[in-house]
Amino acid sequence: MNKSLTRIYSHHFLPIIKLLTVTLLIVGSSYSIYNAALIKQLSQSIITDFNQIYSISRRFAQYYNNTDSTRLTKGTYENNGVSIMVSQDSDVKILSTGVNKLRSQLETVAPNHIWTVAIFEHPSTYGHFDPLRKEYAERYREYKINDVMTRIVNLERLENTFDQFYGCNIKLSEPYTEQGSNQRIRTVYYPVYNDRKLDALLAIDLKNSLVDAKIRRFNQDHFTVADAAPHWLAYRQPVMISCTDAEPIYVGFGAWQILERILLPSVLIALFSHMLMVLIKQRQHSFYQDKMTGFYRRDFFEPRLKKLHTFSMLIIDIDFFKAINDTYGHKKGDDVITEVTHRIASQIRTSDMAIRWGGEEFLLLFNNMSEAMLREKAESIRAHVAKESVSELNVTISIGGVHLSQGDFADAYRIADAALYQSKENGRNQVTILDETI
Ligand code: GH3
Ligand code: MG
Ligand code: MG
Repeated sequence: MNKSLTRIYSHHFLPIIKLLTVTLLIVGSSYSIYNAALIKQLSQSIITDFNQIYSISRRFAQYYNNTDSTRLTKGTYENNGVSIMVSQDSDVKILSTGVNKLRSQLETVAPNHIWTVAIFEHPSTYGHFDPLRKEYAERYREYKINDVMTRIVNLERLENTFDQFYGCNIKLSEPYTEQGSNQRIRTVYYPVYNDRKLDALLAIDLKNSLVDAKIRRFNQDHFTVADAAPHWLAYRQPVMISCTDAEPIYVGFGAWQILERILLPSVLIALFSHMLMVLIKQRQHSFYQDKMTGFYRRDFFEPRLKKLHTFSMLIIDIDFFKAINDTYGHKKGDDVITEVTHRIASQIRTSDMAIRWGGEEFLLLFNNMSEAMLREKAESIRAHVAKESVSELNVTISIGGVHLSQGDFADAYRIADAALYQSKENGRNQVTILDETI
């Protein structure tokens, strides 16, 4: 009978693996959609950061043009942490305060990713460096008065940027490795033109890990799994940073990153749902299932019987049960009921219905069964109970049955009950099947 219950109700409850697969699919696709939706926002945010770096850099020109100069002889100086290398006696613009401000503003956009801020005067009579690394000093000393500056400006196509009101009068280089320090950097070049003449070049070296750090912060803030690396089964979008000839960075995520993130929550969700389903199932069971026997409860099943019109039905009653109770006690009686019903259940199919009709009286209903088959079935049930002792007692059952092709439950019950009475009258431990004529 337990089997039949499982069969009837199991299709409501997915096995745990199926449940986990479904959960992974649902959570995985939702989380992927969420990530994909935020990739655009991340991409935009990276672009905005660079634009901000550009506009902070451009503002430096104002400061440069309006600052005072002081006469310095050839040598290396330091002011407010900014180094000044003077290659020949000149009037040197006092830029250190401005460089400090520039650096602190840049730090708000790219925290810990400003590698060097340098301002090269043109012609190259002096330069400001924050910080001045050993290798810069060596290289700067080798600079001819014009060549390096001009080369950078030409190379990065920054000539005559004063003509470009809205275009890019600033340039972001490709990532490269700085000689000496071996730091991967990208440089923002901003030429300061006055009266169509190049006065200075502002060079801001950004650590190349800037974008990765940005993505990490974004991931933390938005609970995403984006990165800038290629992946298997990936969703990737180019980030169109302005004012650079470099290949675009691609940001996105791969299926594996998604899976890694959702696996544990999905397992928990699946387990939780499974437990919830089991709980609901148990509650439903206790509503329709009799605890002691595993048979349907009469109060649950009786209304359904009223709708039936064909019956292959057996009523089973334990013989001399009162005597068992009286002699061995109620507990022993319960054990006998349990064991007898287990034996009955073992003789019926999962599609058959077994109902605990009274204390030790049971109703069995079969589908599509001829009278001969019903008789045979009843006999096998009777024999299976009688063949071995039940809880160390000799227990037998009497069975009354009916095969009714047209009628209602009251008719069927009346006939089957009469058949049971005959079995009892004729000495118990036997089967009586009556047909519909009675
Ligand atoms: P008969 O062969 O004529 O059926 O005799 P019987 O003694 O079995 O008579 P009857 O079927 O009328 O007995 C039913 C008794 O079963 C009455 C009641 O005390 C007892 N009974 C009913 N439900 C339970 C139960 O859940 N547990 C126990 N231990 N006894 C029960
Ligand atoms: Mg009885
Ligand atoms: Mg009885």
